[in-house]
Amino acid sequence: MKLGILGGGQLGRMLALAGYPLGLTTTVLEPAADCSAAQVCRHIPGEFEDYQALYELAKVSDIITFEFENVPVHAAQWLAERVPVFPPPRALEVSQERLAEKEFFTSLGIPTPPYAVVETAEDFRKALRDIGLPAVLKTRRYGYDGKGQAVIQTPADAETAWQRLGGRPLILEGYVPFDRELSLLAVRSRDGQIACYPLIENTHRNGILHRSIAPAADTGEELTERAMDFAARVLTELDYVGVLCIEFFQEGPRLLANEMAPRVHNSGHWTIEGAYTSQFENHIRAVCGWPLGRTEAIGSSVMYNFIGTLPDPLKVLAHREAHLHLYGKAPRPGRKVGHVTLRVSDRDELAAHVAEWDTYFQRP
Ligand code: AMP
Repeated sequence: MKLGILGGGQLGRMLALAGYPLGLTTTVLEPAADCSAAQVCRHIPGEFEDYQALYELAKVSDIITFEFENVPVHAAQWLAERVPVFPPPRALEVSQERLAEKEFFTSLGIPTPPYAVVETAEDFRKALRDIGLPAVLKTRRYGYDGKGQAVIQTPADAETAWQRLGGRPLILEGYVPFDRELSLLAVRSRDGQIACYPLIENTHRNGILHRSIAPAADTGEELTERAMDFAARVLTELDYVGVLCIEFFQEGPRLLANEMAPRVHNSGHWTIEGAYTSQFENHIRAVCGWPLGRTEAIGSSVMYNFIGTLPDPLKVLAHREAHLHLYGKAPRPGRKVGHVTLRVSDRDELAAHVAEWDTYFQRP
């Protein structure tokens, strides 16, 4: 089987690596010449809107998927007329625009933070009155890892946020004083089977994922089932195939959907060593039309991202539980350059280690 991937970052790299033992030949289409995936699979250098490059990718692929959600929808649709493309391009359309995404969740009965549409200064004033403070002003497109957003605590912040972000389509969200952030990774096969990984607890720094713990502690059956039900609604509505991630805020008993990613996700990197089947393998199984693998966790895991700089690899490996992943990317501020997953036998053992690891891996 020949797999084509739109995007050649670390997610493309980890997909290609997962496909290798399954006999897949992988080709990524990615503008950056020195992209992370190109070190482990074939690479067509090109823009996502370069139809010659898209044609080249279609020619060498039996199936095409994508590894980031800002692929132009029309490029995915153009490919889908030639080669099966999974997940469906409509999933891109929904997740690329925060308003469409919130309205989509709402239409499926999935709660979200309160939100209001902002296009003009007048809309902004009205939205501030309706939503109240604190609030978060976000661009509707191209926002990820906390980019294109501003937290507003005071009227003065509102002025600054408007100066920075105004003039573009925006959304104002109520600031959720969440207890914690959770994500759910779900996978749906071509024949409609759905499997979910355990809920994951995520900690962000400056809007970027810093740490994921899986399975999340104290989720309880009811919360887990609710999250799985929400994911099933999204997957079924979109006739989705592949891995999907939904990020939630947990506030007391409430679970509010923040956003979804129609792809493998950073908060699922622990599944490589910490689950029976990794998210990458299950995504491949799904898009290829193969049976899904088991999604249960093996023991308990914590994953830390390396952002901007790399730690000394030998010191990381000195932790006997450590599984180190380096993405072959040059360190730059704010750039994800690797991660480590530490997997132990159970939650108690994990809790005993996490305080020490937190201190160690929070170093720049
Ligand atoms: P996002 O790009 O929407 O995923 O936002 C990045 C991070 O900013 C989230 O993971 C949260 O930590 C924080 N954040 C975003 N929206 C809100 C909100 N409405 N209330 C509280 N925190 C938020």
